[in-house]
Amino acid sequence: MPKAHTAFGKPLGPSTGAPNTFEPSQGTSTGHLSTFADAAFSSALRLAAVPSLSDHFFDHTPDSLAALFDGWGLPRYRAKQVFDWVYAKGVADPAAMTNLSQRDRQQLGERLTFLKGDVVRHQQATDGTQKLLVDWSSTPDTAPAGTDPTLTLPVLTPRPASGSGCASDDAPDESADDESAWYAGNRTECVMIPSDNDASGRPRRTACISSQVGCPVGCKFCASGLGGLDGNLSTGQIVQQAWQLSWLPGVGRLSNLVFMGMGEPMANLKNVLPALTALTADWGLGLSARRVTVSTVGVPVGIRKLAAFDLPVTLAISLHAPNDTLRKEIIPWASFVTIQDLIDAGRDYFDATGREITLEYILLSGVNDLPEHAHELVGICRKLRCNVNLIRYNEVSGLPFKRPVDTDVRGFRGVLNDAGINVHIRASRGRDIAAACGQLRHEAAGL
Ligand code: SF4
Repeated sequence: MPKAHTAFGKPLGPSTGAPNTFEPSQGTSTGHLSTFADAAFSSALRLAAVPSLSDHFFDHTPDSLAALFDGWGLPRYRAKQVFDWVYAKGVADPAAMTNLSQRDRQQLGERLTFLKGDVVRHQQATDGTQKLLVDWSSTPDTAPAGTDPTLTLPVLTPRPASGSGCASDDAPDESADDESAWYAGNRTECVMIPSDNDASGRPRRTACISSQVGCPVGCKFCASGLGGLDGNLSTGQIVQQAWQLSWLPGVGRLSNLVFMGMGEPMANLKNVLPALTALTADWGLGLSARRVTVSTVGVPVGIRKLAAFDLPVTLAISLHAPNDTLRKEIIPWASFVTIQDLIDAGRDYFDATGREITLEYILLSGVNDLPEHAHELVGICRKLRCNVNLIRYNEVSGLPFKRPVDTDVRGFRGVLNDAGINVHIRASRGRDIAAACGQLRHEAAGL
């Protein structure tokens, strides 16, 4: 049961960080449906700018926690001590915070939740990749209902895994904010991927985290899209995933982080933006913004909002197809946003941040991995300061898509290379633990 308390400071939440308004006229989106989505999304973001109280440590900044402690009669400096224990020492148990008085430790334990949810599965792959499946049911988010930007986005109706295709209703589905739906499928996953040292010799430890429970986009090749959207993760739930991965035994501290787990970050910006603050702040995870990647299927207004947030994170656009016709076949949200819309938004992002855009392209055998697709992709790359990540598809039980053969992957890359495009084939990690987004949750649910 949530603990009631009074907060006098500003926790990490929709009221902090980002400006509260966004004018659709700032965008250059041309598609009529994307214009609808932009306007609705902007409006929803304004509605979402509601301060919230929180009993979850990871929702807080040092200032908001100090203000909270003020209200409880605890000294304000305790907040800095607690932040030090959690973020610098990896201790999330107030009983172990030995420079606090016994009384203060007890009060912390009674009034603040440090780790929400339960890790219901922890898997380790032979290549060192580790994956956590977290069930949030025991500690539901206390954020008020009715402030979810996804209410006005084209949220897909959840469909059973055995269904033969995505529901692709154009109309918003308000059931996405229904609490019973939220709590029914209340599991997300996050992954820690160790890899070779980077150019500076630092060990690379990449966290892949989720922003939502399920996903509203419903890509037809994706395990997360199988069940539609169940709900948004709170800021604290997003940050907590990174913290838990960072302190897994034997892993070492995070160097990189990607929003490539479950969910569409742009559909939960009200919580993702303040989470970015905690992930990059000196008092938080302390990641370099340039080593944080926000991956989106493409919501132009969200991309511009992220640009205005003034934190030069890497923007990755999940393109996955080189033309609108094919893209609509595999990504239902592509009906609302054209590739030209994405190019325009990507250019705006580059102009605002100086950061080259990463185009993510998942190769599906016989679907989008043919030479003609590669040549079309070159045409897109010529319009945008970008690099391309090619991803070999990890097959999902029950879905018809196949992993591409190596010769096709190399041929695809060769076309881009010959055109002078900066292209990488992303290494598959954790295949033996189903490390593609959504796959662990899918399997654990017996779907
Ligand atoms: S691929 Fe990404 S955007 Fe598409 S359904 Fe899966 S999680 Fe959502």
